[in-house]
Amino acid sequence: MNDIVQNDLSLSTEVEEKPRKTKILYIEDNLANQKLVERVLSRHNYDLSIASDGVSGINMAMEQEVDLILMDINLPDMDGKDITAFLKSKPKHVKTPIIALTADASAANRDRSLAVGCDGFITKPIDIASFPNQVAEYLGGQKDELAPEDQKETLKTYVGELVGNLEAKVKELEAANQKLKKLDSAKSDFIQLVSHELRTPLTILNGYYMLMNNMKVLDPDEQKKITDIAAGFGKGITRLSDVIQDVLSVSKITASSLSLSKGPIRLSDSITQVVRGIEKSIIQRNISIAVEDMTHLPIIQADGKQLGLAFKNIIGNSVKYTPDGGSIRIYPLTMKGTVTIAFQDRGLGVPLNEQHAIFEPFYRLENIDNHSTSKTQFLGGGLGLGLPIAKGIIEAHNGRVWVESPGRDEHNLPGSTFFVLLPAT
Ligand code: ADP
Repeated sequence: MNDIVQNDLSLSTEVEEKPRKTKILYIEDNLANQKLVERVLSRHNYDLSIASDGVSGINMAMEQEVDLILMDINLPDMDGKDITAFLKSKPKHVKTPIIALTADASAANRDRSLAVGCDGFITKPIDIASFPNQVAEYLGGQKDELAPEDQKETLKTYVGELVGNLEAKVKELEAANQKLKKLDSAKSDFIQLVSHELRTPLTILNGYYMLMNNMKVLDPDEQKKITDIAAGFGKGITRLSDVIQDVLSVSKITASSLSLSKGPIRLSDSITQVVRGIEKSIIQRNISIAVEDMTHLPIIQADGKQLGLAFKNIIGNSVKYTPDGGSIRIYPLTMKGTVTIAFQDRGLGVPLNEQHAIFEPFYRLENIDNHSTSKTQFLGGGLGLGLPIAKGIIEAHNGRVWVESPGRDEHNLPGSTFFVLLPAT
C-alpha cells in the first residue's frame, strides 16, 4: 500500500519537461516542393514551418527559434543566396545551419551558395530516401566546405554581381519615382481642375442665394422661413467656397505658382483683423485671445490678403485645438532684420515626431471619424490643408514657420507655439 502511495507521489512531483521538437524553417515558393518536404519530414518528429517568399522567410527566421533553415535559392522575390548572406550576418543565425535546396546542380551554383554562407547544398528534386538523413547530418554539425581559394574567387564574382543588381534596383527605383512624380502631378492637376469646375455651379448657386436673400414677401411667417432658408443656404455656400479656395491654394502652392501682390503691411492690423473675424466663436467657446503690443514692429512688404490667410489658418488652429475656456497669446519677437510672431496656445499640443509632418498637405493627426466641418469648434477637423497653405504663403515671402510643443497630451494640455518669421524689409 505504502509503495503505491510513494509511486504516486513521485509521479506527481517529477514533472518531466517535454524536450522541444527540432525546428526547421523551409523557405520555398513552390507548393509541390513544400508538400513533398512536409510529407518526407513529417515522419521524423520535426516541427516544420514554411515561408512562401523571401520577405516572410526573413521575418520568420528573425522572430522564431529555428534549428535549421532549408533555403530555396530561386525565390521569385529574392535570391536565396542574398537571404542566406543576410541571415548569417545576424548573431542569431551565425551558427544556424542553412541548407541550399536548388534545382540548379551546377558547380558554380554550389560554390556560390557555400561561399555566401550556406552550410550544405542539396539538389532538387530531393531524394526521398536519403533526404531525412541528410537533414539529420546537417543538424548534427556536418558542413559542406569550400576551399578558401575558391571561396575568395566566388565571393569576388558574387560581390560584383550584387553591385550590378543594386545598380539595376536603383534604376528601377528612379523609374518608379519618376512615375510617382507624374502621378502626383496628374493628381494635383485633377484636384485643381475639379475645384475650378466646382466654382461655376457655385457661382450659380450664389446667384440664387442672393435672389432668395433679397426676396420680400408680405406674410411675416413666410418671410422668416425664406430668411432662415437663405441663411442656411449662404452658410453652405461659404463653406463650400472655403473648401474650394483651400484646395486651389494648396495646389498652387505645391506647384510653386503662388503669385504675390505685395504692399506695405502693418502686422498688428493684419492679426487684429483675423481675431475680429472669429470673435463670435471665441466668445461662444469662452476662449481668450491676448494680442500683445506690436505697434513698434516695422511695416513689412507683403501680400496682405495671403498673409492674412496664413494667420487665419494658424490662429484658427490655436482655437480648434484648445478646449473651451482656454487662452491664446499672440506676441512679437524682434531680431535684427526679421520679425517673428508667436502664436501660443494652451491646447492639446503636437507630438514631437509629427511636428514636421503637420505642414504636409492632407496630413491630419485627428481621427477621420471625428471629422467636423467647423473651423473653430474644439477639434473641428479640416482637410489638413490649413498649415501647408500657411507654410506655402510664408515661404513665398521668404519667411519660415515652425511649431514648438512638448508633445500631445489631452489631459495636461501642454500647448503649442507656432512661430512665423518674416524678413523685416
Ligand atoms: P486641419 O485643417 O486638419 O486643422 P492643418 O493643416 O491646419 O489641418 O493642421 C494639420 C494638423 O496639425 C491638424 O490636424 C492638427 O492635428 C495639428 N495641429 C495644427 N495646429 C495645432 C495646434 N495649435 N495644436 C495642436 N495641434 C495642431
